[in-house]
Formats: sequence, C-alpha cells, structure tokens
Amino acid sequence: MRERGLIILNKEFDEKWLPLMQEGGFNKLGLHSLYQYGGMEWHINWLLKEQTRALIDKFEEAGIAVEQELHSVDWLLPRSLYSSYPQWFRMNEKGERVGDWNFCVSNEEALEYIEISAYKYAMLVRQTSHNYFLWSDDKRNMLCRCEKCRHLNGADQNMRIMKSILRGLKRYDAKAKLSFLAYDDSMMLPTEKPDKDMFLEFAPIGRNHLKPLNCDDEKNQANREMLLKLLKIFPAESARVLEYFLDVSLFSNWEREKAGALPYDDARVRKDLEFYRSAGIERTATFAVFMDEEWRKQFGTDDLMQCGRAMREI
Ligand SMILES: [Zn+2]
Repeated sequence: MRERGLIILNKEFDEKWLPLMQEGGFNKLGLHSLYQYGGMEWHINWLLKEQTRALIDKFEEAGIAVEQELHSVDWLLPRSLYSSYPQWFRMNEKGERVGDWNFCVSNEEALEYIEISAYKYAMLVRQTSHNYFLWSDDKRNMLCRCEKCRHLNGADQNMRIMKSILRGLKRYDAKAKLSFLAYDDSMMLPTEKPDKDMFLEFAPIGRNHLKPLNCDDEKNQANREMLLKLLKIFPAESARVLEYFLDVSLFSNWEREKAGALPYDDARVRKDLEFYRSAGIERTATFAVFMDEEWRKQFGTDDLMQCGRAMREI
C-alpha cells in the first residue's frame, strides 16, 4: 500500500508513537477525537497548543503526514443555535425539529453557516496537508426527514454537507481535498455527483470484523458490493480505506477500562488488504484508538508491527 495509516486518539498522541510508526513502516498519522473526551472543540484547542504543534512538526519532519480525522458537524453548526434557528436543524421521524445531530441539508442558511465554519476551521488549524477529513456526526439514524430532505438518502445528505464544507475549506486552501466518508448513515450510493476534489473514505464499521471481507458472510458481502459500486463513482486512485484492524476501542465498545487484547488475525488482514488492492486501492489506514502506552505494556506491539508489515507488502 502506498499510504499506510494509523488513526489514534488525540490524547494518546505522544513521542513514543514515532519510533513505533517508523518500525511498523506507517507513513500517515490521523488524529481523532471522541465525544466523551470533548469532541472537536477540545481537539481544536489541543491542536493550537504549542506542544501539540511541535510534536506534529517532529512527525512531519520524519516523513509522516499528520492529518485530522474528525466528526465535525456539531462543531461546524453549534447545537446552541437551535433555540434561535430551529429550522436549520433536522426533522426527526415524528416531524419535530430537533437540535441533536447533523442538520437540515435543504436549509441554505444552515449550509452557508457550515461553509463559513469550515473556512474558520482551516484558518485556525493551518495544516500542512491538503487532505481534510471533516465528517458528519458520529450517530446512526440521524438524517433529516423534512419534506425537502426525506427523499435524500444518507449519502446524498452527506454529499450536501461535504460540498458546503469543501467550499469553505477552499477559501483558505485552493488545493483542499475532502473525504467523503462511507460509514453508517452515509454507507449508500450517492445519486449526486461528487466534487472532483472529494475522495472516497470507506469505513466498513458494520462488517464482520472477524472474517475476511471477501467471504460469504452476509454483512461482508454487502460491504464489499457497496465498495465496488462506490468505486464506479469515486476514483480508486484517491480512495482510502479506513479499517478497524487495530481498533482497541471498537472491540471494547469505546470503554477504555474494558480494553483487552485485539482479535488480530494477520491472515485475515492480509486477505482484506489483497481485496482492497484488487479493487485498485492503494491507501489504507486503521484505527488504533486506545492502543495507548498502558495497553501496549499489557498486550505488546506484535499486532501493530504485523499490520504495518502487511500494509507494506500488499
Ligand atoms: Zn431537511
């Protein structure tokens, strides 16, 4: 794989990751936030700390691209605006406007607000990479069901959000490229054409993680077919796969105190990488959230190194 990434939790980012990434041959680091640790608001303040910037510089000087991979809508359109502008927010199944997650993607003012916030984000963060990953909210079944939105599937609603975000990013960085995340609600086929500067990011969280993607498991078959259809819409050259091979958080239901050993199976991971490769994909990353120093002391780094080797060899 040309791009071999690890996505870790912001507060677990430290210098010790540099030799580990080098030994594993990883060349991209994604920094991720979780709502339970302050979400994107915390993440931005943390990114603006001098120590964080210095640490990112160290990784970039060593040839590792550092990017931010964030669920962003609740920051781009703060929920506190709901009381003043309820029509900007989504309509639930009962026909009520609710200020919980995402928003009404048919509301032009809300879309414009998102665009300006994306511009503000880019100005604040001033990242080196032109790749941006500002995803919709990390909650399932959070689409807008208003009269204007209800015919739009999850991918189409995501497309409208991402087009606004990309317009905002481009005001700061004309070369900005934005992830179109296929995940949960947006794991569908968009009917609207993507912008040329959007790339597919395929994150099959609903797959069977214990069996190869290319097997007769029903979920894996559905995910596989979806990827192949998405690759008829998005070019494979720029597409990325975001996997869960090393995601301690997924396997502990995002509860750090429950974090245990990973069910890592190198043969299965290699089969998955071979499948992705056969589909023309050259960029893969895996979450490695909760693989912090304490976890590594307990469970070691064999899984990490094996995964890095598989990504290098396939
Ligand atoms: Zn709507």
